[in-house]
Amino acid sequence: MSATLPMSALTGCGEMPEPLVRNATHLPVLKERGQREVFCGLTGIVWLHRKMQDAFFMVVGSRTCAHLIQSAAGVMIFAEPRFGTAILGERDLAGLADANDELDRCVTQLLERRPDIKTLFLVGSCPSEVIKLDLARGAERLNERFFPQVRVLNYSGSGIETTFTQGEDTCLKSMIPHMPATTSTATELMVVGTLADVVEDQFMRIFNDMGVGPVHFFPPRMARDLPPIGPNTRLLLAQPFLSETVRALQARGATLLPSPYPFGVNGTTAWFRAAGQAFDIPDERVAKAIRAPAERATSSLVRYREKLQGKRLFFFPDSQLEIPLARFLYQECGVELIEVGSPYLDRLLVEAELPLLPDTITLSEGQDVDKQLDRCREARPDLTVCGLGLANPLEAEGLRTKWSIELVFSPTHGYDQAADLAELFARPLERAQRLTV
Ligand code: SF4
Repeated sequence: MSATLPMSALTGCGEMPEPLVRNATHLPVLKERGQREVFCGLTGIVWLHRKMQDAFFMVVGSRTCAHLIQSAAGVMIFAEPRFGTAILGERDLAGLADANDELDRCVTQLLERRPDIKTLFLVGSCPSEVIKLDLARGAERLNERFFPQVRVLNYSGSGIETTFTQGEDTCLKSMIPHMPATTSTATELMVVGTLADVVEDQFMRIFNDMGVGPVHFFPPRMARDLPPIGPNTRLLLAQPFLSETVRALQARGATLLPSPYPFGVNGTTAWFRAAGQAFDIPDERVAKAIRAPAERATSSLVRYREKLQGKRLFFFPDSQLEIPLARFLYQECGVELIEVGSPYLDRLLVEAELPLLPDTITLSEGQDVDKQLDRCREARPDLTVCGLGLANPLEAEGLRTKWSIELVFSPTHGYDQAADLAELFARPLERAQRLTV
């Protein structure tokens, strides 16, 4: 094994916003189980390593894994990023080296060089030689040696077991057994899912103005500062792809607050209202706290609504953000949805979103990529949201596309980012218009 080190409802002024419009309540789901075109869960490292500043992600994998992470993150090796790949070399593959010894050697080398690392994630991948390695036992073995200076955790980002955003789900789940128990019975809020720091700060200001607290964010900015968890914890989800994490938090006694996700004015307002209700905050106080940012967001969305109104849009399944984003585009930008595909449809996580979609769409789960491409070609949407692998061929066929990966990498949550989110969809349409003029 060698290491590439660094192993490598628009709001009215001064009043509570209008309730969300509810349309489809029992949308049928087209379930497809064919070939799929989705990134693997290693991709989550791109945003997770930026969030947790004392963590390091060591992928145990092949050169393919190293290339994926390196190119997706766009970070130079000499920048000493907080991720790297321990690559299985020929000696490992030929059985000439004990892979466990090699792993220990790579980890020791890394931790000696990087004393800033306080949590080390061993991230599993696809190659059969990696699957044979017991990374859970490897983490246990390394903890005996390095804990408490460094905590070693493991999770899978393998493309066989995870798609794209599921990597965050498996990563966060691996941290939950190490969370301390809450020490009081008073209600506490935990916001679950990675948020850009700037968004977290905006949300915290609003929670403070509402009188909601204590508030914990998971994942935290420092991986060693794990938030407490217990029966008094209320969970508010920032990301719709955390199925296993939510269930593991529930198993530790926490209660999930059903809410749409904080995308756009409507979703963000509903989200803060859910928090306010959990803490028995009067509606008037919630309205006062959100009034200014909601009004700013509403007016900043006007110009994008003009551009997006009536445009026909097709979502391929990729990030699991598709349902809340489709709801935002439909409700606040006037977009006509054709198909909304999601890799997985976990009703526990999207039950508050589904009734907000129009009942005229095709809602699909999973993928049979050829069949879905046929539906897309037949519909000829104005914009297709899809992964990188499908975007170029569709562009070559004259269809305008939006890379779904950008929607995950950009700060898009909350009031102040609502216009930026709309712009991400408007930009390819504007570009296409400029090219045809
Ligand atoms: S984990 Fe699997 S799918 Fe992902 S980059 Fe590595 S080999 Fe490819």
